[in-house]
This record gives sequence, C-alpha cells and structure tokens, in this order.
Amino acid sequence: MEIFALSLDRAVRDAPGWYQGDFHCHTHHSDGTLAAAELARLARAEGMDFLAITDHNTLDAYAHFGAPEGLCVIPGLEVTFDRGHYNVFGIVQDADWLGPVRRGPTQLHWAKQGLDLNDLLAASAADGLLNSINHPLLPPWAWLFEDAELAHVHCLEIWNDPSWPDNRMGNPLALALWTDWLSAGYRITAIGGSDFHRPVNKPGVRKPPDRLGLPRTFVYAEQLAGQVYPIGAEVGAVDGDLVLEATVTPAGRGGVARLIGNGAILAEQTLPWAASPHATHVLHHTARLAPDAPVWFRLEVLDGNGLLAAVTNPIFAGPRPAPVLTRYGDFVDVTQPALRAR
Ligand SMILES: [Zn+2]
Ligand SMILES: [Zn+2]
Repeated sequence: MEIFALSLDRAVRDAPGWYQGDFHCHTHHSDGTLAAAELARLARAEGMDFLAITDHNTLDAYAHFGAPEGLCVIPGLEVTFDRGHYNVFGIVQDADWLGPVRRGPTQLHWAKQGLDLNDLLAASAADGLLNSINHPLLPPWAWLFEDAELAHVHCLEIWNDPSWPDNRMGNPLALALWTDWLSAGYRITAIGGSDFHRPVNKPGVRKPPDRLGLPRTFVYAEQLAGQVYPIGAEVGAVDGDLVLEATVTPAGRGGVARLIGNGAILAEQTLPWAASPHATHVLHHTARLAPDAPVWFRLEVLDGNGLLAAVTNPIFAGPRPAPVLTRYGDFVDVTQPALRAR
C-alpha cells in the first residue's frame, strides 16, 4: 500500500552528475520546528539537490512535500529507540516492520516493545530499503545495540552535526569505527547528516545553531531521482598497478590531504594557506595489487585545525572478503570505551 504520493522514479533532473544533499533532518512532524515547505525552501537556499527527511518514528511530513522545484525528497524515517537511532531510506510502502515504530512517540522505550532489533533491520533490508546507523558514538544518543548484525547495515553516519560539542569526539570515533568495518571486509557506505531540527536554538542550548546541509554528502548519479544513494566504487580484481590520483582544491584554507589504503596512509600532501581559492594540489600513488588481495582506498582532507573537512567513500579492489566479526559490539576497540562512558 502506498503511504504517500512520492515516487522514487520521478527524475528531478534527468542528467548524470554530482548531486549534493543531506541525509538527516527533522520537521515539526517530530521534534523539529519547520514545516515541509519551509525545509524544502531552506534546502534549495543551501544549494542542495536532495534531502532525506528522517523524522523520529513518523512519516507524516511526506504528505506535505509535494514535488518541490529542483529538490529530490528522499522518503525516510529515523527509527528512534532509547538504545540507538537508525535511519531507513526509501520507504514508499507500508510494511509490517513499520507498525510498531510508526506513530510511536519521538523516542520509543526499547524494553517495552518486545522487538528483536535484528529482525527489524532484516525486514527493512528485505524490502530493499537502506539501514543507516546514526551518530553511533555521540552521547547520550550513542548506539547501544551491541548485538546488531552488520550484515543488515548499509550506511553509517560518520559525520553528524559538527556544531554539537560532543561530536568533536563522536564524529572522529565514528570515522574510526567505519575504518575498522572496511578493514574487516564490510562495504558499508559513509554518509553525513546535519540532524537539522531548528534554525534557532532552544533557549539555554549553548551551541551554534543547526545548519541544514552541514555536513552534506555528494553522490554521483545517472539522474537526480529518489534512488540517489551513495556507494563506493568497485574496480574488481586487478593484477598489476592501480594508479590513484586526486586533485584537491582547499579554497585557500590549508590543511592536509591523505590517501588511505586498508587503513594506512599511503600518500600525504600538505595544503598550504594560499591567497588563491583556486590553488590545487595533486596526490599521486601507485598501488601494486594482487587479484586475490582485498583492498580499499579513500581520500580524506583535514583542515588547518586537524578536523575532517572531507572524506570520500572507498574504491574497492580485489575479492570481497567474508567478515569474521559480524556484530556491532565485536569492534571493541572503538565501541567499548564509548559504551562504558554511558
Ligand atoms: Zn538521532
Ligand atoms: Zn535525528
């Protein structure tokens, strides 16, 4: 049964290219303050092409979006329990798994629900939807479902609202967790989400105001339509050299760019402060690959303060390994200190 008039197939722009957007925001249908039309206007003003609406445990906002000019609205929701939050993207049909979640309070009490988290994740995955764990290491909303099977997880929000003070640690830890997952053999996609709730802070909240589109995720897609989900690139089995080259334009602000392979730094380029915002720097690395050895590469850029400014999803080469560690809680180096801190 269709639950709102939103087609994933409607092409907002029918041309291949890089599209940018935000995978995490809220309206006044949960605990945000903006209406659908206001949020759509703000997204366009921020230069975004797509916006995933992820209200807590409700899809009610979608009936109010229509088809905003120039903006692809991705139907999602933030499944919100007191033990962790995850986004599900691509929902256009009602489903049994949605029943206990939809129209619940903004935050559901896990113990009262009598649910099995892996059953929930498996059901949405079986419907062809994407599960994305949100702000996994941001207290007090860190992910506590240690038994979650990573086979059901498609994306990880490695970059949540950087204006939130605890994300100074939460985001780098999430990046470290994702790195461990990649090295364990998972091909889970990293995404960013502003977790935008309101343009003006609640009284007494001491942080810069939320900003829609900070951070934002860039996706190369054949057209701007409801299936604009980021994935890494695969080059398959390579017997010989793989030449990796990245051109970085730091807009004059300086920092450092790093090419990472299987978790190690392969090449590094200092980005000096420059008068010209158009100054570019090139990183170059030739990797010798064996066809039977799995490897992943990504580029990351740190700003002059050592904070993450940009990160790519990986290029994968070689076979796809079968992970030995299968549960969230198996990645103890990163998850356990954060869980103990709760
Ligand atoms: Zn959340
Ligand atoms: Zn949220």
